[in-house]
Amino acid sequence: MDYLGFLNEIAKSRKVIGYFDTYFPEEFAYAMGLHPVRIMSDDEEPVRANEFLQGFCCPYAKNILEQALKKKLNFLSAAIFTRYCDSLRGVYEVWKSEKLSPVVEFIRYSQVVRETAKDYLSLEFKDVFNRVKKALGCDYDYDSLKYAISKVNKKRKALQRLYSMRKEGKLNISSEDFYKTVFSSTWKPIDEFLKSCEALFLRNNSVNVNFDDKKVVLSATELDNLNFFKLLDEIGFFIVSDDIASGTRYVKDFVSEEGDTLDDLIENIALRYIMKPPCSVKDPSDRRIDELIEEVKTSGAKGVIFFRTRFCDSEGIEYAFIKRRLETEKIPHLYIESDHRLSNYQQLRTRLEAFYEQIVGI
Ligand code: SF4
Repeated sequence: MDYLGFLNEIAKSRKVIGYFDTYFPEEFAYAMGLHPVRIMSDDEEPVRANEFLQGFCCPYAKNILEQALKKKLNFLSAAIFTRYCDSLRGVYEVWKSEKLSPVVEFIRYSQVVRETAKDYLSLEFKDVFNRVKKALGCDYDYDSLKYAISKVNKKRKALQRLYSMRKEGKLNISSEDFYKTVFSSTWKPIDEFLKSCEALFLRNNSVNVNFDDKKVVLSATELDNLNFFKLLDEIGFFIVSDDIASGTRYVKDFVSEEGDTLDDLIENIALRYIMKPPCSVKDPSDRRIDELIEEVKTSGAKGVIFFRTRFCDSEGIEYAFIKRRLETEKIPHLYIESDHRLSNYQQLRTRLEAFYEQIVGI
């Protein structure tokens, strides 16, 4: 069953809560018995969304609004946005005014990546989830939140193992299949996801492959279109690791399970989400760049492919700093720009093929 079919089915037995970036603290949703899902882009062309959003809004933001306006996301009981970028902020305003889901909320994150923001964010989480509790008739307490934290930590551990196996050449699956699995962790029930990981671990137990010449690291914000990964497979690249919001930036760092009170646990969640590997919308995002370089060095990648979603300002600005660091480190890279539909597919193919020849040297 496809992603939307699956979520429509789940919504028959559980309330589904949608989110749009990985700053959403999914632990609260699980603790309240809700099913959190990251809304992924599909191949819808924005038509109705253009009535509401400016031409320079990013195509991902327009696409998810289009899906909602076309009632494809009617299975959602709630949609929760966070303070991420201006495009998503615009989508939130339209979502709220058009009442595109019964509950619409916005978590106002502090823009800075600093431990001192923890107290503020804890209060903000309490405020937002108190309103969600009231509106959806659900609740969370110390035990349910502690259990949810440990479940999400298990999911992140399984994902970390998948990434390690990939780096060690012990996971012989295509990039398309690898990212299909990784992205499914943001919409499948956790137990089901863990089962599919176990099956992969067992199947690849004794695998040992060497893709040394073809290894690259992919850097992007969101990149849901699996056809892009298929294209990279066809050209011959092996995506050994990444710097993607719903990839390694989602996987790294756990929420501490220590603490005797509900407030302790909420503070632990706040701390993890403030200090997690930052996206380009946060300040400072040095950790992201340091870790990208680290991924290249530890994986033995030959280069970096930087995919910028068209009109994404923060990625455009951050690219200047990433480029400088990659050049200083003498790491070859390719900058490409496209949208969720890969509308410039043939141009992308040509540029990627040229980069492949440059780094693999065939
Ligand atoms: S791609 Fe950039 S502009 Fe678009 S939603 Fe993500 S951060 Fe915002």
